Amino acid sequence: MTPDEFKQWGYRFVDWISDYLSHPERHVVLSNAKPGDVRSQLPSMPPEGPESFDQILRDLDRVIVPGLTHWNHPSFFAYFPNTGSEPGIFGEMLTAAFNVNGMVWQTSPAATELEELVMDWLREMVGLPVTFKGMILDTASISTFHALAAARECITERSVREEGISGPGAPVLRMYASEQAHSSVEKSAMALGIGRRGLVKIGTDAEFRMDAQILEAAIEKDLREGLRPFAVVATVGTTSTTSIDPVARIADVCSRKGLWLHVDAAYAGSAAILPEMRHILDGCDRADSFVTNPHKWLLTPMDLSAFYCRRPEMLKRAFSLTADYLKTLEGDSVTNAMDYTLQLGRRFRALKFWMVVRHYGVEGLRARIREHIRLAKLFASFVESDPRFEIMAPSPFSTVCFRLKAGDAENQALIDRVNASGKLFISHTRLKEKLTARLAIGNLRSSEEHVRAAWEIIAAR
Ligand code: PLP
Repeated sequence: MTPDEFKQWGYRFVDWISDYLSHPERHVVLSNAKPGDVRSQLPSMPPEGPESFDQILRDLDRVIVPGLTHWNHPSFFAYFPNTGSEPGIFGEMLTAAFNVNGMVWQTSPAATELEELVMDWLREMVGLPVTFKGMILDTASISTFHALAAARECITERSVREEGISGPGAPVLRMYASEQAHSSVEKSAMALGIGRRGLVKIGTDAEFRMDAQILEAAIEKDLREGLRPFAVVATVGTTSTTSIDPVARIADVCSRKGLWLHVDAAYAGSAAILPEMRHILDGCDRADSFVTNPHKWLLTPMDLSAFYCRRPEMLKRAFSLTADYLKTLEGDSVTNAMDYTLQLGRRFRALKFWMVVRHYGVEGLRARIREHIRLAKLFASFVESDPRFEIMAPSPFSTVCFRLKAGDAENQALIDRVNASGKLFISHTRLKEKLTARLAIGNLRSSEEHVRAAWEIIAAR
């Protein structure tokens, strides 16, 4: 491709993206595609010769776009919404253009140093202490995996790094999280050799928060039985209801028992950039590790997970292994990211977050999150004012759990009808054994108009 052709097509693609973002009404939010629809419309073999971008764009419009569920749509209210904001899109363009691999400092000093800088910025923004070292990973699931791998290295009876976790004399490890914790915690237990049975799920109170007393009792029981507790995962903003575990009390238990505390604030951590919401992270300063996802609620395109650790030396113990060909001269004067993570190769993700923060400013980001929280309260007030509906959990952030006062079949029919409208997309969960609808607000372009329109469709008879 010549530079002129690149410019010509670059302008076309930017025009295409701008048109896509400014006309969400053209698309049904939840794709109508049936399994196999997308593949069946495309050749099964790669083209032998080059194809023109005209042809490629035609297929994008004809096949790919109808096969998308439009996460960047302002009426995407399912799961936890996210935003591919314009500055974030520019960041992704530059990341692809530079195409650096930030595996060690030398392979791109700017990638390592900008990552450290923006992780320090975010740490300041949410009010975590400077003792936390931040790094960027792809997802919260992988961040939690790294946290628990570091925690596993802390057991003193055995060097897991050298000996593994099985064989004669190996302790039987136990970790703890609430029954509302994200499935990634259980997956980490599976992947780290703890096993699903090694994760003890702790009961919650009426507002879906971990009960710290039950936690302590469970740890004591396991100790009496000769098992080896090693870590607790607390959640700030659980996936179903966005409940907040009592982190300070859980931190007390962890320090009494000598366990690693990891805090999963994948969605809700971003809200701590609001001074009036800082309290949600009370006690997190005492955690050993913490994760929040700017790719959920901080206008940053997928993927960017911010992982913080107060004991980075334990991450190093879990993951550093330097082959001869990767040794560099700088030694400990720089961060070599590969020493702290399972992966070697690393995308330059910091760029897009740097662009986002600089474009909106922290006050601009606060304004968007504050507005989403206001809109969720407004939506909850609509639900409360209709006697056919009930609210199923407190809404401390921008997510509302609600249902018809009727059986699961009626609620399923409601959710299906709403999503089949194509005008919005909501998801569901199960609370107190009841099917519950869930409306979450988090896209930059979601406004009061979209929330009012959503309620009109939900409440229609
Ligand atoms: N933790 C919580 C509390 C979540 O809600 C989610 C996803 O919604 C995750 C972890 C997983 O996030 P990721 O997709 O970044 O792995």
